[in-house]
Amino acid sequence: MKKLGVLSVISGFSGVGKGTIVKKLVAEEDYALSISATSRAPREGEVHGREYFFLTRDEFHSMIESDGLIEWAEYVNNFYGTPREYVEERLAEGKDVILEIEPQGALKIKEKYPEAVLIFIVPPNAKELENRLIGRGTEEADTIKKRLKRAAEETEYIDNYEYIVVNDNLDDAVRDIHHIIQAASHKKDRA
Ligand code: 5GP
Repeated sequence: MKKLGVLSVISGFSGVGKGTIVKKLVAEEDYALSISATSRAPREGEVHGREYFFLTRDEFHSMIESDGLIEWAEYVNNFYGTPREYVEERLAEGKDVILEIEPQGALKIKEKYPEAVLIFIVPPNAKELENRLIGRGTEEADTIKKRLKRAAEETEYIDNYEYIVVNDNLDDAVRDIHHIIQAASHKKDRA
């Protein structure tokens, strides 16, 4: 019987650079990246079906009701969730799948998939987050405040993660995460 792929969850505070890390990781290595559904409005340059499936709140709730999401959470006034079909199909094909989601969703994934690998990305220091959030200029001041508050709340979830990766240098962070997932994959193959 074919082995299931490894399911990895990558989380990190808003502004930590996890989007950039994940993009580079999937561009360089053979991972399947799950595209989430969200009720948040697209940012400039974001494309439906590439960064997210942008849904109305009603559409999002229909997906919950039809059991189309393997997890979902509310984050700073919007809903985010992982579509079931893509993840289950890729894992069944033996492909390693990456989810880039926040900590409440990560916890739900760990409950449903105990073998999932949970990785949390942290900034080299706290000030860096604020600088990056302001610097990228994608959010209003009020939203930045809410996201920083949420980051402080998320520290409580860090103990649920098996690995912490410091994003001091992009290439190092990408390599660290790749090695963590490969190690999990080898362990699984030997089991
Ligand atoms: P952003 O609005 O910055 O794209 O994402 C906000 C937060 O939602 C980030 O922490 C991101 O990881 C998380 N997120 C994105 N997709 C999902 C998802 O499918 N489920 C959950 N629980 N969180 C998600």
